[in-house]
Amino acid sequence: MEQMRETYIGWLRDAHAMEEQALTMMQGMVNRLEHYPQLRARIEQHIAETEGQESELRRLLDGYGESASMVKDAMGKLTAVGQAMSGMFASDEVVKGSLASYTFEHMEIASYRILIAAAGLLSDTQAVEVFRRCLAEEEAMADWLANHSGEITRQFLTRKEMDMPAGR
Ligand code: MG
Ligand code: FE
Repeated sequence: MEQMRETYIGWLRDAHAMEEQALTMMQGMVNRLEHYPQLRARIEQHIAETEGQESELRRLLDGYGESASMVKDAMGKLTAVGQAMSGMFASDEVVKGSLASYTFEHMEIASYRILIAAAGLLSDTQAVEVFRRCLAEEEAMADWLANHSGEITRQFLTRKEMDMPAGR
């Protein structure tokens, strides 16, 4: 039971680091989307949701007696993903950005499903509720990106064809 709990808390720490990574990624993207107001608005909404997720996960970690520095240690684990997400200054940045965001949302979805299963097994119903709320927000964001990727792609290609600043 103790080992199970430690493994679960490790996953929770990873998820907290993932949300901090998500914030960094989206905050980097959002100001470069002046030609894509719908996408920008949706990302702004998700930044606000993600800030809420980050603080809810931090609150859970605090409740388990986990220190903030241990939280920071987990940050290193997502370096590779972070590099992939932050290096988006290519000319087709908006398309690559929506691709990366869609991928990231699905990593978040998978993470919350794992946490729901683990917290459920440990009978932590309060945590299960938090993870379910987060999961619903990630699924909604992933759905939005899926439903708008065609439009974003067409808008990008059209702007490029007209020789307008297209990438962003
Ligand atoms: Mg999230
Ligand atoms: Fe998300």
